[in-house]
Amino acid sequence: MKNYEFWFVVGSQFLYGPEVLETVEERAKEMAEKLSKALPYPLVYKVTAKTNKEITDIVKEANYDDNCCGIITWCHTFSPSKMWINGLAALQKPYCHFATQYNREIPNDEIDMDFMNLNQAAHGDREHGFIAARLRMPRKVIAGYWQDEKVHKKIADWMKAAVGVSVSKNMKVMRFGDNMREVAVTEGDKVEVQTKLGWQVNTWAVGDLVKEMNNVTEAEIDALVDIYKSNYDIATDNLEAIRYQAKEEIAMKKMMDSEGCMAFSNTFQDLYGMEQLPGLASQHLMAQGYGYGGEGDWKVSAMTAIMKAMGENGNGASAFMEDYTYHLAEGQEYSLGAHMLEVCPSLAADRPRIETHYLGIGMNEKDPARLVFEGKAGDAIVVSLVDMGGRLRLICQDIVCVKPIMPMPNLPVARVMWRAMPDLTTGVECWITAGGAHHTVLSYDVSAEQMKDWARMMDIEFVHITKDTSVDSLEKELFLNDLAWKLK
Ligand code: MN
Repeated sequence: MKNYEFWFVVGSQFLYGPEVLETVEERAKEMAEKLSKALPYPLVYKVTAKTNKEITDIVKEANYDDNCCGIITWCHTFSPSKMWINGLAALQKPYCHFATQYNREIPNDEIDMDFMNLNQAAHGDREHGFIAARLRMPRKVIAGYWQDEKVHKKIADWMKAAVGVSVSKNMKVMRFGDNMREVAVTEGDKVEVQTKLGWQVNTWAVGDLVKEMNNVTEAEIDALVDIYKSNYDIATDNLEAIRYQAKEEIAMKKMMDSEGCMAFSNTFQDLYGMEQLPGLASQHLMAQGYGYGGEGDWKVSAMTAIMKAMGENGNGASAFMEDYTYHLAEGQEYSLGAHMLEVCPSLAADRPRIETHYLGIGMNEKDPARLVFEGKAGDAIVVSLVDMGGRLRLICQDIVCVKPIMPMPNLPVARVMWRAMPDLTTGVECWITAGGAHHTVLSYDVSAEQMKDWARMMDIEFVHITKDTSVDSLEKELFLNDLAWKLK
């Protein structure tokens, strides 16, 4: 994890005299320190701002500080908001308005006009909120007492979404070859994506990867195979296939690290000079936080890396996934998701097994090794970023994962079974109506609200399919979105 941090900027004014300002500053420092202990990233107190210049200066600093992932503002007292206009208009970092107050309760005996002038967040936060609304600022408003756990959870979730913004703006994707021939949904406008999301998406020759693979030493392979053995059960006699995957992983990691790439894509149609499609290799890279997309799907690859970074400890349970097939028995309607090989073990319910099997798709000279496991049960989301031509749409669907209801002993890949919201068939109708891809990021760790916050900060369309969504309501929403995004 990088040294990500957030800045606490407190609004005030000179009206109340120096003593009040000292008290505000002391309390703001205390709050930042205590909140830092309860949050996943430090909250650094920066300033009790009283002038236009103080606000503009701290915003300029925040914009150019690589560790600063966003600002959290609060008004202990009243802070006239015209002095915030220049600063907020220049702000390029995520922005959270935290509406709280230092004291939890109104002190019955103590309260007088001095107390009211010092503790008037209810007053100040409304003035502060108006100007952001007037400026149409993308922001998150969080209200509640600053020592409450549920408030900490809200701020923590927003912080992780804001970290996703920072990761997105620094995202580099290494494409080994092009997209799978003729496929539409994996295509996209790389210039638009770089403009909106910051991603640098470029292609490297598979021949360069093969060259790098030929430079991998036996000792490097031994060391990685030892890591495989400590993390996974070896359920094959074909150790050569495992060693070959290790060689692929080492070479891909070296190339990505030398270019600063956190995500990659490849395609079974372009493996010239390779004996196996990377399976275990891609899975273990994903386990380390790299994003991956099959069939050249660089959009889902970058989204996987971003959502992993938004998760627990900067590498949560989020993974490249593909909708494969349905179980349509009445009362038991489920989707089965998997991929040819490349499902991230962060989804696994139990310790994964390394197996080798024949793979008919692509030019695999030898049976590729891959991790096989069942996905965990629990609430999750699937997310798809599609290019609508002129704009990007992020589609998010709530799902409930279950332990697969049958063992499927002849299925040679990792598998996840789930029920889409609001139910399988309506969920599928909604997903297809919105144009969602077969490739998704499935996450147990990142919430739909975090993806909504992320999409708002990136200024892209967000569509959420929930337990309450109907095809009718979704069609209306998409129609209005089309109009709104044309005007934007
Ligand atoms: Mn696929």
